[in-house]
Amino acid sequence: MHRLRSKIRDIPDFPIPGIIFKDITPLVKDPAALRLAVHLLLQPFLGRPITAVAGMEARGFIFGSLVAWELGLPFVPLRKPGKLPYDVQNVSYDLEYGSAMLEIHSDALADTDRVLLIDDLLATGGTAKASCELIEKLGATVEACAFVVELDFLQGRDRLDGYETHSLLHF
Ligand code: IMP
Repeated sequence: MHRLRSKIRDIPDFPIPGIIFKDITPLVKDPAALRLAVHLLLQPFLGRPITAVAGMEARGFIFGSLVAWELGLPFVPLRKPGKLPYDVQNVSYDLEYGSAMLEIHSDALADTDRVLLIDDLLATGGTAKASCELIEKLGATVEACAFVVELDFLQGRDRLDGYETHSLLHF
C-alpha cells in the first residue's frame, strides 16, 4: 500500500487555486504499481455475482477497463455529454469544483445486471452518486463502488450511503 501511496502526486492549485489535485499518472506509468492497484481493486469482488464493470470518464476508464478485463466482464463507459453516439440516459450532478453531467448508452445494461462501479478517486461523491443513479435508471443494480483514492475529508462516502464502497488509499 505504501508503494501505491508513493505513486499519487499532489498538484497544488489545479484545476483552480485552492485545490490540491491528486495526480494518479505516476501510478499508471509504473506497470507493477498499476497491476497491484488493479489486483487490489478487484480482490473484494472475486466470486461475487457481478455481471458488468462501469467506469467514469476519464480516469475511471483506465482502472475500470482493466478490472473488467481481469474479471472477464463487459466494461460500460459513463461519459461526459455529447460523446456517446447512440441513445443515452443522463444525470446532472455537482462536482468538487463546478457542475457536470454524465451519460450512458440506454442499452448498456439490463435490469438483470449487477454492476461494479470503478473510478480513480472519490471526492465529494457527486460523480459516483450520479453514476449509481444512471446505472439504476437502466434498471440495473449497483453491486459496489471501488476507488483507488478517497479524500476522506470531503465525506463522499456519506453521499454513497446505502452503497458498498471500497477505496485503496485514504488521504
Ligand atoms: P467528486 O464528484 O467530487 O467525488 O469528484 C470525483 C471525480 O472528480 C472523479 O471522477 C475524479 O476523477 C475527479 N477528481 C476530483 N478531484 C480529483 C483529484 O484530486 N484527482 C483526480 N481526480 C479528481
